[in-house]
Amino acid sequence: MWIVPEREIADLMTRDAAFDAVEKVFAAMASKDAYNFPVVREAIGHEDALYGFKGGFDQAGLTLGLKAGGYWPHNLEKRGEINHQSTVFLFDPDTGKAKAMVGGNLLTALRTAAASSVSIKHLARADAKVIGMIGAGHQATFQLRAALEQRSFEKVIGWNFHPEMLPNIEKVATEAGVPFEAVDLPRMIEANVIISITSAFAPSLLADHVSPGTHVACMGTDTIGKQEVEAALLVKADVFTDEVAQSISIGEAQHAIGQGLISEGDVAQLGAVINGTHPGRSSPEQITLFDGTGVGLQDLAVAAAVVDLAIEKGIAIEVDF
Ligand code: NAD
Repeated sequence: MWIVPEREIADLMTRDAAFDAVEKVFAAMASKDAYNFPVVREAIGHEDALYGFKGGFDQAGLTLGLKAGGYWPHNLEKRGEINHQSTVFLFDPDTGKAKAMVGGNLLTALRTAAASSVSIKHLARADAKVIGMIGAGHQATFQLRAALEQRSFEKVIGWNFHPEMLPNIEKVATEAGVPFEAVDLPRMIEANVIISITSAFAPSLLADHVSPGTHVACMGTDTIGKQEVEAALLVKADVFTDEVAQSISIGEAQHAIGQGLISEGDVAQLGAVINGTHPGRSSPEQITLFDGTGVGLQDLAVAAAVVDLAIEKGIAIEVDF
């Protein structure tokens, strides 16, 4: 069995490699070559933590396993550790034997950023110039860094519930040479692409804050009760997701579905757009919305790529298990 510690991931995984792995696995999910297992996510009644498992099997890539982990909201303030903590476990699909254990923290950020980037590549207008960010926490910086590579953005506008955190994303914009402006939510109307990545339980972005032709990537809602955008926005938009079952139960679509505003059939898989079996954006005025709930297969795909690289570079630790 191989171990790839968290500390090694930064030197092994690139944004490009994460993007490729996620785009491929979304396509495999849509063509039914790969499937996710039902998500387990529990409030454990300790440290206000949410803990769970996301797993799956990719028959095409022969990747089997799960990510175990979750969200510990007090980690940063109490211990200087990031709030998300996770580990990926891979198994040999021929024998069921444990194959690898891989640090999942940085991989989660990279694969989540890759997911919204894949959605921007396939759904945003080619002439998108202004990107709006809602959220300025740990994931937001990764999201913005990856998204800026997808279009020739000329400006970043940002809003955050805790305005003192906005310098986190301003720094990313500045490093990429793109001007940044902190704005009120109604000014999101100026954005051609909007990414929301917060841990909110009430909508920030309203349907009236989004102009025609915009692509919105909702990346923060991954649990029952969380919500970042007004349910009415999902009526105005064409809705895409990584995994329909997750979108309607733990993703942003849970609210629009629950209120009877849209139905399951209104939510399409992004992988179908990648495969060419769904047309995706069909007009410049259309609002597209990607409900990125985060699937186990994304984690397995990036972890499998890391294990191969780590073995190749002699970094992976082999243990007799
Ligand atoms: P973080 O703790 O670093 O940042 C939290 C962000 O949410 C900050 O911008 C904060 O200001 C904002 N926020 C907190 N309370 C809010 C409120 N009441 N209203 C509006 N905004 C509020 O967390 P993070 O690591 O950046 O994660 C952000 C979210 O992304 C979490 O909900 C997490 O579960 C989710 N996430 C999703 C995926 C996925 O695949 N979709 C993957 C990883 C994380």
